[in-house]
Amino acid sequence: MLASIAELKEAAEGRPAELIRERSPERKVIGYFCNYVPEEIIHAAGHIPLRLVKGGEREAEAAGGDYLNLNSCSFAKSCVGLRGEAHDPLYGEVDYLAEAPACVQMEWALEIWEKYFGVKTLPIGLPRNFRSPDGLEYFIREVRDFAKGVEAIAGRQIQPEALLSSIRLYNEIRRSLRELYELQREDEGPLRWSELFTLVQAGFVLDRARYLEGLKQVCREIGEVRRSPGNPKEEPRLLLLGSILAAGDDKVIQMADALQARIVMDDLCTGSRWFWEPVEEPTLEGLARRYLEKSPCGTLPVLQSAENPRRKRLEELMEEYRIDGVLYYTLRFCDAYAFKAEMEKRWLEEKGIPVLHLDSDYSSSNQGQIRTRLEAFLEMLRTRKERLKIEN
Ligand code: SF4
Repeated sequence: MLASIAELKEAAEGRPAELIRERSPERKVIGYFCNYVPEEIIHAAGHIPLRLVKGGEREAEAAGGDYLNLNSCSFAKSCVGLRGEAHDPLYGEVDYLAEAPACVQMEWALEIWEKYFGVKTLPIGLPRNFRSPDGLEYFIREVRDFAKGVEAIAGRQIQPEALLSSIRLYNEIRRSLRELYELQREDEGPLRWSELFTLVQAGFVLDRARYLEGLKQVCREIGEVRRSPGNPKEEPRLLLLGSILAAGDDKVIQMADALQARIVMDDLCTGSRWFWEPVEEPTLEGLARRYLEKSPCGTLPVLQSAENPRRKRLEELMEEYRIDGVLYYTLRFCDAYAFKAEMEKRWLEEKGIPVLHLDSDYSSSNQGQIRTRLEAFLEMLRTRKERLKIEN
């Protein structure tokens, strides 16, 4: 792993201790799950934003199962278990929980944090008609109310210059991450996707100004050390999408790296969908527009709309990153993505893009099966790529 990325990863692991030092009566730790929460507002009010997307731990999943229906996804159970019996040091430092739940299981997690853990919540309604003028109007009102809630905790108003400065900082972070991701368009990009994914995870917990400095260091290091991290250009180029891939849910990533599978891009809420679009207008309305109209979550229904914004984005990514195959990852009991899996698979295959649907939870029981299926999928793609090369 690139030294500057390893450094950020290590800094992220030391974050709980820093939070204890940084917190004060008017500076609180405000956590959130789904990436529809406009965290610039938390930052501009002087609070500490913390995105809570840990997963992969069987114990935390089991602990969450004491509160949530067992037929809930592993991530939702972890969101609860890590604050509950698993006593995660980072989740334990959260003073308030903000949430714009993209799915009903995240609504349940929010309720449980409030009712069982006594954490005050700042809910933001996420309209289902997310691409309609009414939906935007509604979300603007929700974002304004959210800002009032955050200001009340700080005991002061957010100043326009503070909001502008936070939006500028976040847009710089987005620009740096996007530049690094766009290197994956090259035949032999300088980073493995798993390194990029680690880099984004660090951004969810680190102080944002500190994180930006770290990103600049990564860009410098890449400029200095032209490296080839084993991204052989003849390898099939993969797009990873689906349910949340939480920090720590490493099964598929490790398997892919072990098999030299070349993931070049993702459509994940813990990956590119967190930072892909900048905020154009530095106001609360501009923030609401950016967060509602950004790369959409697959849980949101596409209703009364000629255009499917998510599919439009996937088409653009598949062209730009020259995708040969798609890994469609679902967490067991993630109804939202599991419900769409067959439809999406058919749509992608009609476009000539083979799909491997991997359904999993946080147990290790299906590791062998995932490996076998991924190996066979890669072999099929390699043969297909060879044949297409000969035919063209
Ligand atoms: S993985 Fe699916 S069910 Fe779980 S929180 Fe995300 S969208 Fe909801």
